[in-house]
Amino acid sequence: MQQAAAPKISFVSLGCPKALVDSERIITRLRAEGYELARKHDGADLVIVNTCGFLDSAKQESLAAIGEAMATNGKVIVTGCMGAEPEQIEAAYPGVLSITGPQQYESVLDAVHRARPALHNPHLDLVPPQGIRLTPRHYAYLKISEGCNNRCSFCIIPKLRGDLASRPAADVLREAEKLVAAGVKELLVISQDTSAYGVDLKYAESPWKDRSVRAKFLDLANELGELGAWVRLHYVYPYPHVDEVIGLMADGKVLPYLDIPFQHASPDVLKLMKRPAAQDKTLDRIKRWREICPDLALRSTFIVGFPGETDRDFEFLLDWLDEAEIDRLGAFKYEPVAGAPSNALPDQIADEVKQERWNRLMARQQAISARRLKRKVGTRQQVIIDEIGPTVAKGRSKADAPDIDGAVYLSSRRPLRIGEIVTAKIERADAYDLHGTVAGF
Ligand code: SF4
Repeated sequence: MQQAAAPKISFVSLGCPKALVDSERIITRLRAEGYELARKHDGADLVIVNTCGFLDSAKQESLAAIGEAMATNGKVIVTGCMGAEPEQIEAAYPGVLSITGPQQYESVLDAVHRARPALHNPHLDLVPPQGIRLTPRHYAYLKISEGCNNRCSFCIIPKLRGDLASRPAADVLREAEKLVAAGVKELLVISQDTSAYGVDLKYAESPWKDRSVRAKFLDLANELGELGAWVRLHYVYPYPHVDEVIGLMADGKVLPYLDIPFQHASPDVLKLMKRPAAQDKTLDRIKRWREICPDLALRSTFIVGFPGETDRDFEFLLDWLDEAEIDRLGAFKYEPVAGAPSNALPDQIADEVKQERWNRLMARQQAISARRLKRKVGTRQQVIIDEIGPTVAKGRSKADAPDIDGAVYLSSRRPLRIGEIVTAKIERADAYDLHGTVAGF
């Protein structure tokens, strides 16, 4: 008897690393059930679009992706952040098979089963124990919680994803251990608010190996640091207990890298933004962190042109940046998001002013970044190799997260492998990247 072909699914994943983790979970389940992934919409049995609904521009991108899937295939399932408010999708594409919000894995799978049932094959076990990942083999995102208890005025994530729901520590550690066993060299810890991890669980302990581990930021970071991979912490807010984690960085347990989305520095703007964690003594704390861990790299994002941001607020931000010496910075011009309370704030800023402030912020940051990187010339840095080119390899130091930060370009006498960690001698720096030679393996 001829075996029927496995149903093929084409998958589009849009949005942030958190959405990427959702996509990985859905794909892992589909592969376990015998579905195959298609490279193109055309010829696939179904298309799944995992959308992002954070900014209006992201919504437009999501709608365009759905439109393309409808035009080239016609059988389309939509999930992700934009699915939490389905009206817009239904209005534009009434033929979409199903629309679900973020983390609704079961509903997505139900919709897939309805549209194209899986082939039953009891011998099928196509899924490696660590699941399917969409990131390269040598690094992986590790989501430790969903949702958020804060209510920043420009953000609709709590509305889309609900309040903070942390995973038990042992669950996270088991996943991390599997990833490392499968060859992952770098774990990127993500959530909406990493330093709030476990608050909802009242820091409950869970059994891990011969001990119990509390669902607490410090305890989890400490245990992750035991697994033998680089551990990079994203989306950390400067709550007081973050100071303790700097000690783990100084001891080499987790990478000396903190991604803190400060968003602004002016107390008045921060108040309008309703940002979590008191940020008034942040400069002192950054100074102290760098005393404890001189290699600490700080990454942050900022919003310019938030309603009510005055010239003085903006100047305050520029001066603050000079003092804080943020190593890596992403800046966004404020964009109203449908449903966000900040839309109702008075004193919205004109687009030209936003653009001018954005340009000035980026220019200031470029100078700071260049200054900070110049200090690394002549030092030795560990570098993880991401890509091999014809003459140089592209990698990242401990101060660089994939996709968002700069790179280290290396020449080497012997061929390098992707995922390998080498010691490099840094010979040159430009505004965002470093250049050097491999000095040890
Ligand atoms: S901390 Fe603020 S910006 Fe971040 S997800 Fe929570 S509410 Fe949104």
